[in-house]
Amino acid sequence: MAEILKGAPVAAALSEELIRRAAALRGAGILPTLAILRVGERPDDVAYENAAVKRCEKVGVSVRRVLLPHSCAREALLDAVARINDDPAIHGCLLFRPLPDRESEAAACALLSPEKDVDGCTAGSLAAVFTGKGPGFPPCTAQACLELLDYYGISPAGKRVAVVGRSLVIGRPVAMMLQSRDATVTMCHSKTADLAAACREADIVVAAAGQAGLIDASCVRAGQVVLDVGINVTAEGTLRGDVRFDEAEPVVKAITPVPAGVGAVTTAVLAKHVLQAAERSL
Ligand code: NDP
Repeated sequence: MAEILKGAPVAAALSEELIRRAAALRGAGILPTLAILRVGERPDDVAYENAAVKRCEKVGVSVRRVLLPHSCAREALLDAVARINDDPAIHGCLLFRPLPDRESEAAACALLSPEKDVDGCTAGSLAAVFTGKGPGFPPCTAQACLELLDYYGISPAGKRVAVVGRSLVIGRPVAMMLQSRDATVTMCHSKTADLAAACREADIVVAAAGQAGLIDASCVRAGQVVLDVGINVTAEGTLRGDVRFDEAEPVVKAITPVPAGVGAVTTAVLAKHVLQAAERSL
C-alpha cells in the first residue's frame, strides 16, 4: 500500500504561512492583489478561477477579475494586459491559457511584465526558471510539484526522475527545477522509444502528458514516488490522471491522487507568488 500524497495538507500548511505574510503586507500599507485575465468561458478555466479566488480570499489576497469575450480583438486583450502592467496596485496577473487565438496569446505573454507574471508564461519567467536569476515566477503547477515533495520530506537530490511531458507549462520547467535541486532528470515525450523502461528506471516519476491512464503497471516498480499532474476529463465527466492509480498504488512507495493531489496545491502556490511579487514591490 502506497502513501497517498494528498494536496490538501500541503495547501493548508502553505496557506497558514501566507496568511501571516499577507497580514504583514497589509500592516505595511500594501493590499496584495491578483488580476485574473480570462478570455471566454471555458468551464475548466472558470472552475480554476473560482478555486483561485477562494484560496486568495482565504489568505488575504485581493482579486480583480478582467473578463473578455471569446471573440475579443487582440487589441482589447493587449490593452487589458497593458493596464495591468501599469497599475501599481496589482502585483500579479494570472492569464488563462490556452487562449482561443495562439498569436494573441504569444503577444499577451510577451507584453506582460515578468514581475507580475505569477504563473510563468513570459520569457522572463522561464529564463528565471532556467537561470535561477531574474524576475518572474515558475508556472504554479510546476512549483506545486516541488512544494508537495518538500512537504512530504521527499528530497529530489541525487534521485533519478522521469518527467513525462515537455510542455513549457509543466514538463520543461518542472524538469529544470528538479535538476536545480540535484535530481538527474530524464525528459520523456510522445517520441520516447520505451516510455515504460524510462519510467521504471526512475526513483520519482512526474506524469504530465495529458493522457488518461498512460502510466500503467508496466511503468512502475516498488520504491518509487509518483506525482500525477494529469487532469483528464472522461466522456462521463469524471476526472482521471495520467496514471492508472489502481495499477500503480499497490506497487509504488508513494503516489498523488487525482483529483486532490497536485491540483489542490496549485492555487496556494498562485497566492504565494502574488505575495512574493507584493513583497518585492516594497
Ligand atoms: P500539453 O498537451 O501541452 O503537453 C503534453 C506533453 O505530453 C507533450 O510534451 C507530449 O509530447 C507529451 N505526451 C503526450 N502523449 C504522450 C505519450 N503517449 N507518451 C509520452 N509523452 C506524451 O499538456 P500540458 O503540459 O499543458 O498539460 C499536461 C497535463 O497536465 C494535462 O492533463 C493538463 O490538464 C494537466 N494540468 C494540470 C494542472 C494541475 O494543476 N494539476 C495544471 C495544468 C495542466 P510531445 O511534446 O512529443 O508532443
